Amino acid sequence: MAGVQMGFEEGLAKTPFLAAVDEAYCDYCGECLKTCLGCGACIPVCEEGAISLVPRTHHRRPPKNEGRMFARILWERRRIGPFISERIRRTLRRVRR
Ligand code: SF4
Repeated sequence: MAGVQMGFEEGLAKTPFLAAVDEAYCDYCGECLKTCLGCGACIPVCEEGAISLVPRTHHRRPPKNEGRMFARILWERRRIGPFISERIRRTLRRVRR
């Protein structure tokens, strides 16, 4: 959750399921809204049994390691270009010394 709160929503591994509410059973009490984070914690608080988990249609695989995770974050935030050019600049500075 800390990553989502820091704004890295797309750079994180997400659960392969989403919570689905059956409106035929839901009485709109709002109890699930206090717990729903996409983790399934809302299911046991629903006394009407209106919530179930359904598979995501477009589930992304989590990054293999930390380096790939940060690369994905940079890519999604369109910061990969400036990151690479800064790395090249630093390397050239080091080589010239
Ligand atoms: S806890 Fe269940 S009944 Fe209450 S709002 Fe959520 S889904 Fe509807």
